[in-house]
Amino acid sequence: MIGRIHSVETCGTVDGPGIRYILFTQGCPLRCKYCHNPDTWKMNDGKEEDTKDLIQDIVKYKSFMQFSGGGLTVSGGEPLLQPDFVKDLFMKCKQEGVHTCLDTSGFVDIEKANPVLDYTDLVLLDIKSYNPTVFKELTGVPLDPTLAFAKHLNERNIPVWIRYVFVPNITDNEQDIEDLAQFLTTLNNVQRVDILPFHKMGEFKWEQLGYEYSLMDTEQPSKESVEHAKSIFKKHNLPVFV
Ligand code: SF4
Repeated sequence: MIGRIHSVETCGTVDGPGIRYILFTQGCPLRCKYCHNPDTWKMNDGKEEDTKDLIQDIVKYKSFMQFSGGGLTVSGGEPLLQPDFVKDLFMKCKQEGVHTCLDTSGFVDIEKANPVLDYTDLVLLDIKSYNPTVFKELTGVPLDPTLAFAKHLNERNIPVWIRYVFVPNITDNEQDIEDLAQFLTTLNNVQRVDILPFHKMGEFKWEQLGYEYSLMDTEQPSKESVEHAKSIFKKHNLPVFV
């Protein structure tokens, strides 16, 4: 099965547990203002790869993965823009005993996602804001599909790690974080919440691509403000990490 991918990282340690083979797929329907990978946005960029070749490469790292509790993470872009491709790759991983993790914005068609979820061990779900206005302004798309997807993962009992990018003056609103924390307490499948403090490592890519980077003047958040956000999730007994 052929898919369009952006790149591969063979020993990732931040996108799921253990040492992971990270596959970044090409194409994303969102336009997050802080995106680190704007070069994944266009569906026609990147290169074609066959799942048969990819699995051969992935299994080369199996001993590292098994030793560290790692596996494969498919990230993006938005992997669920290519559900047949990801499903085929995950199916092959399960045949090889490789743990599978899907990194998604949740802005997806649930019916199309379901066959992929049949072979998914863990989902990294980005909830970029719980405030619909902020979410739309930040990403260019509505919030509801992501919340519907979060509820669906709960119904299917698929473990989830929530990721929340903490951006000064955008996603640092106390009430919005409180509302998100309350929503997360209604789910039974949230294994952890990761707060990711905003940084500008992807800014140069925006410039290279000729896109306007609107967060140019936004500073990194203070340690205290991040700790305060953490305390809100903690208050709700959520396992939160920075
Ligand atoms: S969902 Fe991810 S890849 Fe897509 S625009 Fe947002 S940060 Fe970038």
